[in-house]
Amino acid sequence: MHTKLVAGNWKMNGLSGDLVEIERLKDGMDAADCEVLVCPPATLIARMHDMAIGSELLIGAQDCHAALSGAHTGDLSAAMLADAGASHVILGHSERRADHGETDALVRTKAQTALDRGLTVIVCVGETEAERDEQRTLDVIGAQLSGSLPDGCLAAHTVIAYEPVWAIGTGRTPTLEQIAEVHGFLRRTLSERFGNEGQEMRLLYGGSVKPGNAAEISALSDVDGALVGGASLKADEFLQIIRAFSDQ
Ligand code: PEP
Repeated sequence: MHTKLVAGNWKMNGLSGDLVEIERLKDGMDAADCEVLVCPPATLIARMHDMAIGSELLIGAQDCHAALSGAHTGDLSAAMLADAGASHVILGHSERRADHGETDALVRTKAQTALDRGLTVIVCVGETEAERDEQRTLDVIGAQLSGSLPDGCLAAHTVIAYEPVWAIGTGRTPTLEQIAEVHGFLRRTLSERFGNEGQEMRLLYGGSVKPGNAAEISALSDVDGALVGGASLKADEFLQIIRAFSDQ
């Protein structure tokens, strides 16, 4: 049994006025029997980090640059994010793969840089609807996994998120059998490559997780938490998901 991790990805949402949700989250988190992480836009990391002091709430980032520092206007390094208070960074989210042309090789370099700077990485993989229809889901995910993870990853600092692209923000989710199949495949593949560390790495499911489906997803073996987009923006809804994952 792994300690579950419920991570919220705020994406490009959140202004100063939304910090009230973090107060509400902290107030409702007492009974949480899992780790809780919020990844806001970079502009809010430092303030959320300060608000989280004295609580169990973890704060993370949504991306980092592959280089340590240098002439990369508008980008943020892993060291800057850690300096602002991030403990985790999401990498290879399908929106970055699609919007910014991020390849597995780039995600792997980013992951190495982030790990070297002491961040825990949440590396995202997932198939498009066309790839699932063509019955290529496991091939696609296997290639993403092997291409996006550096050698020597340790369970303490590496989390994998399975996010079917077609389930993100759509209200559609795979069947429980489909989620279980992919998570079982992830576990086997990670164990073959990383041995015991691969057994221990946490595997999150992401894609339209809501209060209404969180409990049944959490009950699946090899589901060690969730990556939550839209439903993480409001503390009330996010807390219901956190409770569902705490009850398992
Ligand atoms: C995500 O983008 O990581 C995500 C899971 O989004 P949503 O929960 O809104 O589908």
